[in-house]
Amino acid sequence: MPEPLSQLDAVTFGEIMAMFVAGQSGPLEHVTDYRRALAGAEYNVAVGLARLGHRVGWVGRVGDDPFGRFALAELARHGIDGSHITVDPVLPTAFQMKGRAHGDDPEVVYFRSHSAGRGLVVTPAVERYLTGARHLHATGIPPALSPAAREFADRAVSVARAAGLTVSVDPNLRPALWDGRDEMVRAVNDLALRADWVLPGVAEGEILTGRSEPEEIAAWYLERGVRMVAVKNGAHGAELFTVDGDRFACPAFAVDAVDTVGAGDGFAAGLISAALDGDPPERRLVRAAGTGALATTRRGDQEGLPDRAELAALTGLPLRTRTEKGTVVSG
Ligand code: ADP
Repeated sequence: MPEPLSQLDAVTFGEIMAMFVAGQSGPLEHVTDYRRALAGAEYNVAVGLARLGHRVGWVGRVGDDPFGRFALAELARHGIDGSHITVDPVLPTAFQMKGRAHGDDPEVVYFRSHSAGRGLVVTPAVERYLTGARHLHATGIPPALSPAAREFADRAVSVARAAGLTVSVDPNLRPALWDGRDEMVRAVNDLALRADWVLPGVAEGEILTGRSEPEEIAAWYLERGVRMVAVKNGAHGAELFTVDGDRFACPAFAVDAVDTVGAGDGFAAGLISAALDGDPPERRLVRAAGTGALATTRRGDQEGLPDRAELAALTGLPLRTRTEKGTVVSG
């Protein structure tokens, strides 16, 4: 097992899947050319953070198969710490098929019902690993995967909070993975209400809170102990609300969006990145919106995620460079 990177900035956990991306338009059963890639909301966030220069770890299980080995190689290539990934000797790595996008959400079909990724197990070593970071990012997906993965998510958030990490939760609602809507809403809100920051899309916020306006969605969480809520609204931009009563809006940056999958994950990476750098809320929102916008500009779930120079070129915010001693503003 490789040595973990020292002093992680952020950790996340979930299921990583191989993905076959259609090279042609049309129903997936007619497509003959596929490109191999990887998918997973938390993995996308980890790649986003790594590209912005942060030390980030991803925890999960993969199968002892070509998809699993591909995932491990990609995590390493991105510089993501994988020292607490388990290779399951029996169960396979999940995979999915993704249609060719045309600026809207493409068709996605999952093959993940008996996967290695569902078997997340909390161990004392994993708890120590998670609590060694500064920030924990969780999504509403693991609670949908299995009782074990739900237990892992609960425990991860609990130990992170107790250890003083900041915690973000992106609901990432996947109704198809749940038996019923009520159970989904209850479980995802259980997790979200223990986070410092919650990042719902506006449609997700409506499902989770029963309220339709971003301000009302945010208030529902802020009244219940969350400190910062960012409500995402695709090409309409995003708004951020804090427990101190601050409210900021950021219109969508004008980009040529070709594939919107992963925009929300890029948004999360940008928000976490700015917070790790000590930025105030307004700048966090701008970095989040900029990272989300750039994520849409390339086909693929991670390909558009920017480095700091690309992000600065879009947002106009100063380029901050990560150094061993911290972050310095250099432009
Ligand atoms: P999710 O992937 O969670 O549904 P959104 O699609 O709302 O998230 O995207 C997250 C954020 O990314 C948006 O709030 C916005 O800031 C940015 N974004 C998304 N789509 C576009 C787009 N077409 N053009 C510019 N920015 C976008």
